[in-house]
Amino acid sequence: MSEYILTCLQCNHEFADTYTLTCPHGCKGLIRTRYAVRQITLRDEPGIFKYSDWLPVTGSIPTLAEPICYKSEGLAGILNLSNLWIAFSGYWPDKGAFTVSGSFKEFEAFPTMQRLAGRTKGVILVSSAGNTGRAFAEVSAQTGQPVIIVIPETAQSRIFTTTPASNVMLISISGDYTDAISLGNKICTLPGIIPEGGAKNVARRDGMGTVMVAGTLAMGVLPDLYLQAVGSGTGGIAAYEASLRLIADGRFGKRMPRLLLFQNEPFVPMVRAWSFRRREIWEEDMPDAENAITRVFSDVLTNREPAYGVAGGVFDVLTATKGIMGSVSSRDAKDAGNLFSSCEGIDPDPAAAVCVAGLIQALRSGVIRPDEKILLNITGGGYLMREKNLPEYVKKPDMRVTKATPFKKISARVQRWMRLHA
Ligand SMILES: *Cc1c(COP(=O)(O)O)cnc(C)c1O
Ligand SMILES: [Zn+2]
Repeated sequence: MSEYILTCLQCNHEFADTYTLTCPHGCKGLIRTRYAVRQITLRDEPGIFKYSDWLPVTGSIPTLAEPICYKSEGLAGILNLSNLWIAFSGYWPDKGAFTVSGSFKEFEAFPTMQRLAGRTKGVILVSSAGNTGRAFAEVSAQTGQPVIIVIPETAQSRIFTTTPASNVMLISISGDYTDAISLGNKICTLPGIIPEGGAKNVARRDGMGTVMVAGTLAMGVLPDLYLQAVGSGTGGIAAYEASLRLIADGRFGKRMPRLLLFQNEPFVPMVRAWSFRRREIWEEDMPDAENAITRVFSDVLTNREPAYGVAGGVFDVLTATKGIMGSVSSRDAKDAGNLFSSCEGIDPDPAAAVCVAGLIQALRSGVIRPDEKILLNITGGGYLMREKNLPEYVKKPDMRVTKATPFKKISARVQRWMRLHA
């Protein structure tokens, strides 16, 4: 159990947490947690809840999932880097990494579900194109806590768990991620259903922030640079917020790490907007978006409404950290992914491969010096080993809908399911 309050980054109002996603005064900016504990003490438990001092939770869920950080030899050797550290989120038993859904979305899902259970009643709803949905399904399968997940039908095969997910209601919609989001928003108007909140949810951000904490504890000092591939930008914001706490902790140095964030060409709206130092993303930053989204190597990076311009969002954290954004071609990402597999011995998620390609590019262009302390966030991976070692229960949709399905029909089904499961 941690002691904390919430604060609004726009009006500085402080308030207690009732699974609040936005400032009660109506501000549009992000809200942030402020923890009573300035110096973090790790709890004596496995998994991410060892960081509970800085998680907005009352209590914990038993899990082995947590970021693992180690000093690279393989990739560092090839690239001639003397201080490359890898934060790995995924499944890699040899390294003690048991994030079974395969990505750092699980670090968001566990604290979010625990925060919800401790702060309010209701069933959480997630709209996802893949990794987020799978992470929440996994937590639900392990804990029995009900979750409603809305996905585009093309993502169906991505929702699987290590044990049957009998309290997940999976709704698939013909269309893309944007259609799943808009259906999800509609379902959230039904009583008892709560949106998970994305970047606005402090449990998601502080959960992801554990990567920076784990990295800093392993390195003994804050890194000079933090590298991540971004779609919504939540992980970048989280890394900055965790760094603020680590600086205030006092034991890990005073220098704010620079954020180096990458997107996958041709869909790079944040890279474009930031290149003009513009707070707003314009339509022209994502020309022919629908088509561009089908052409990327990593589709988890194709969020059309990232947490970019909002107060406390990506624009602000890039400004505060003298950050850099870069774009990476799918071909470079693929090559970088193969390089990573061969020299580190684990298969990275395509998004993590984008990050490795970004690292190589930043070295070539002289943005990074070879002796700098680099924290490379490998945000997902280990899928091959997971497939070999763990059971895979593919969740079949409880309901398949189209954009033409009357909402009355959907809401009736959802409410019936709620009576049985919530
Ligand atoms: C979601 C995701 C990202 C992007 O994360 P954001 O911080 O939300 O932009 C990167 N890598 C993987 C593996 C992901 O699942
Ligand atoms: Zn406010």
